[in-house]
Parts: sequence; structure tokens; C-alpha cells
Amino acid sequence: MERVALLRYGEIHLKGLNRPYFERALYNNIVKALEPYEGVTVRKAEGRYYVENIGDDPRVFDSIAKVFGIISFSPALKVEKDVVAIQKAAEVLLREAMEAQAASQKETFTFKVESRRSDKSFYLNSMELSRKVGGYLLRRIPNLKVDVHNPMMTVNVEVREWAYVYCQIIPGAGGMPVGTNGKAVLLLSGGIDSPVAGWMIAKRGVEVTAVHYHSFPYTSERSKEKVIDLCRILSQYCGEIKLHVVPFTKIQQELYQKCPHNMLTILMRRFMMRIAEVVAHKEDAKALVTGESLGQVASQTIESLCATNDAVSMPVFRPLIGMDKIEIMDLARRIGTYETSILPYEDCCTIFVPKHPVTRPKLEKVREAEKLVEGEKLIEEAVANIEVLNIKG
Ligand code: ATP
Ligand code: MG
Repeated sequence: MERVALLRYGEIHLKGLNRPYFERALYNNIVKALEPYEGVTVRKAEGRYYVENIGDDPRVFDSIAKVFGIISFSPALKVEKDVVAIQKAAEVLLREAMEAQAASQKETFTFKVESRRSDKSFYLNSMELSRKVGGYLLRRIPNLKVDVHNPMMTVNVEVREWAYVYCQIIPGAGGMPVGTNGKAVLLLSGGIDSPVAGWMIAKRGVEVTAVHYHSFPYTSERSKEKVIDLCRILSQYCGEIKLHVVPFTKIQQELYQKCPHNMLTILMRRFMMRIAEVVAHKEDAKALVTGESLGQVASQTIESLCATNDAVSMPVFRPLIGMDKIEIMDLARRIGTYETSILPYEDCCTIFVPKHPVTRPKLEKVREAEKLVEGEKLIEEAVANIEVLNIKG
């Protein structure tokens, strides 16, 4: 009797001719996600992936739950195709499930057995097998009752190249395997929003490389560490992340000295975009990603977003555009970035902030204001001093 996990994948079924490509990418991503666990192996068979030699480290399941492209998975027992072995496995799992649900032995616990066989040569048909397993469980465990319509627990038996028994079907991360939909540059601040934006874009199969603007000494080493920590959390979903830390102090100082203060934020954003675009070209990335959501702050009105887009020719993806702050925060909690994001280290956007930012900037005026600094030169210098870190969960 061996503990395994049975992984199901979804959307990639739709991909017709590309299917083998997606399946290979998903396989590789599962293998990478499970690299930290010694001895664990991954095998593909019959439109599923099987994770074997799991041992008893429950974190394996947490890692599986973070791989995009998997719709659901089940911790299972793998046994010989033999009724007695299947019955014993079912008993182990049902007892565990009952314990997990804290079902008292005195109350009645309802269940049903559902069997499937792709191996039609197996000597019992599905109905007969379910009946044999159900009967055995009723004899072995007190206070059990069969309820085929609304059971508290379903014991699933699948007879394939081996027999698999499982009770739980756990939702996977969904989406598409990372790397199957190109590459994008994520503008990653230390805030709540941009890590969520990165997660959402990675969910659509996009490989993410990150850019962070750092304004030392106005922003501390701690605020950089925080962004590294966020990358580490994201990399559990996205795989290794290449983080570009861009020195941004000089640009901010120049803008502060030479440009109208009410436009500082929007000008700063444009510089961020332009630098991100340079990085994207170098990294062969095809789009930029930000954590902006419409109307959230002055720099996120339609006019401001237009003025930001105007600085670059690459598409800018804003996966959070239609979300409320509360929805974004909920998602941040779910993916595990929230607690890190709310640590109170200053961000480069929180220094040099104008008292009265324009909310509806006129594009012409923004372009005019930008001419007051030597943009090309500043960008070149910043890019030349980028620090690159490769971060893994
Ligand atoms: P976040 O929580 O992601 O910081 P926010 O709502 O605070 O978002 P802003 O601070 O206005 O919004 O930033 C808007 C977007 O600009 C961010 O989501 C991020 O993509 C990008 N950005 C802001 N500051 C930085 C930075 N220091 N480095 C990299 N990108 C940044
Ligand atoms: Mg921010």
C-alpha cells in the first residue's frame, strides 16, 4: 500500500495540437515544484499525473496545490488490483477521513463507494466492486451507513494499471502551466497589489520576471528584502523568478528638482514603464504587468493610465483593473503574500509624493514636463546599474 497523489489537469485538454507541448510543460513544472522533496517521483499515465514515493511530508500537497494547470488532485493509496487490497486501503482512508471530520464513533457516518475501471479485464465490474468494498467497510467500521444520494464521504476506487483508492478531491490552482504563454515583466513594488497581479498573470501560463525600483537611502535595505520575500512566495507558483532591482533615487531627485510637483507621480510611473520596457526587450518578454486597478488612486484614473501607457509601446497588462481593494486583499491572503505586503517599510512611491497630484493629467503637458530632465541618459544609467537576483521559493 503506497501513498501517492493523483493529479488532474483541465484547460489544456482544449489545446488540440498543442496538447503534448502543454503536457510536457506541466510535467516539468510539477517536477520542479517537487524538487525540494527527496525521492518523490512524477509519472504521467492515462491523462493524469501520478506523484509517487511521497513519504509522509504533508507539504508535498501544498506544493502540488500551487502548480498552475492542475484542476484538482487527490491523496490516494495505490494497491495491487486485488479486492482484498482495495478493501483494506478503503478502510484506512475512510477511518482517516472520519477522524479528520472528528466523527464520533457513536454517530452514524454516511458514505458510498464509487468505482471506475479503465481495465475492463478486471474480474469484477464497477457495481460489483463497489458492493464488495462497501460491504467490507460496513462490517469493519461501526455506525456506518450507506447513502448513495448525499453521503458524508465518497470512497473512490479506480482500477487502472494499478488500483487507486481516494476520498478527497482537492481543488488545484487551475489556469495554465507557467511558460506556455510567453513571458512578461512584472513591476513589483512591496505593496499588496502587484504580487497579486503577478500571480494572476502567471496563472494564465505567463513566465514572470520582476522589476523593482529601489530608492536607496530613502528606501531601506529592509524594503528590498521585503520584495525578495514576495518573489520567494510568488516563485512557489511561478517557478524561479529573476528580479531586477533598479536604482531609482537619481531619477526621483531629478524629477523633484526640475518638474512640476503635481505631476511627479505620473512622471515617475512613466520612467518605471520605460525602464521595464528596456528590461523586457533584454529578457525577450512581450508585455508589462502592473498592479493598478481603475480609480484606486490619482495615478490610476483613465487619464493617468493613458499617460502611463503613452511612455511605452509594449502592451501593459493590468489584471486587477476591475477589482476592488477588498477583493485584491482577499486574494493576497489566499496566495500568501498579504502578511509580507503589509510590513511597514517605505516604498519609493511614498517619498517625493506631491501634495496635490493631478488626477486627470493632459498628455501634452506630461510630455512637456518630462522634457525638463535628460530622460534617455537617466534611464541608461539606471539600467546599467541594475542588480539581478534569481529567487526560488
Ligand atoms: P502596489 O500595492 O502594487 O504597490 P498600489 O495600489 O500601491 O500598488 P501604486 O503604488 O500607485 O499602487 O503603484 C502602482 C503600480 O506601479 C504597482 O502595482 C506596481 O506594479 C508599480 N510600482 C509601484 N511602485 C513600484 C516599485 N517601487 N517598483 C516596481 N514597481 C512599482
Ligand atoms: Mg504601492
